[in-house]
Amino acid sequence: MKKRKFIKLIILGLLLPFVSLQAFAQQIKKVIKSTAEWKEILNNHQFYILREEGTEKPFSSPLNDEKREGDYLCVGCKTPLFSSNMKFDSGTGWPSFFEHYPNTIFTKLDFKLLIPRTEYHCAICEGHQGHVFDDGPQPTGKRYCNNGASLTFTPKAMLK
Ligand SMILES: [Zn+2]
Repeated sequence: MKKRKFIKLIILGLLLPFVSLQAFAQQIKKVIKSTAEWKEILNNHQFYILREEGTEKPFSSPLNDEKREGDYLCVGCKTPLFSSNMKFDSGTGWPSFFEHYPNTIFTKLDFKLLIPRTEYHCAICEGHQGHVFDDGPQPTGKRYCNNGASLTFTPKAMLK
C-alpha cells in the first residue's frame, strides 16, 4: 500500500465518528424560531415558561387532573414528550411523569434556587418543560415535574 493512500485511510477513519455523529444530529429536526415568532404562537404565560424558564403556580393547570389515555405534546413544537401511561399523581400540583418518550428531552443544571436542580427542555424546540427529581415511582424512580402550560394533551382517539 502506498504511503499516501495509507494516510488517507487513517484520516478517513479518524473523521468517521464525527461524520456519523453529524448524521445522527441531523435526524433530529430542530424547531428554531426567533423571539418574535415564538410570541406569535405562544400566549404570554406559555412564553414565560417555555422561553424564559418560568414555573407556573401549583394546581393551576387542568392537565394536573387529566386522566384520559393519550399523549402529552410540547406546546411549542407539538412533539409527543409523554404518554398517559407514564403519568402519576405526585400530589405536588404539577403534571408528573416517571418516564418520557426517548430522545425528546435534554437536561441542564438550574441554579436559580439555593440547591441546584436538574431542569429539562424539549429536545426539538428547546422549550423549558420542568424539573426532574429522583423521588418518583418505579420502574425509573424519576419524577418529571412538568409545567402544564408547556404541554398540550391529545386524547388517544385523536392520535394518528
Ligand atoms: Zn418542543
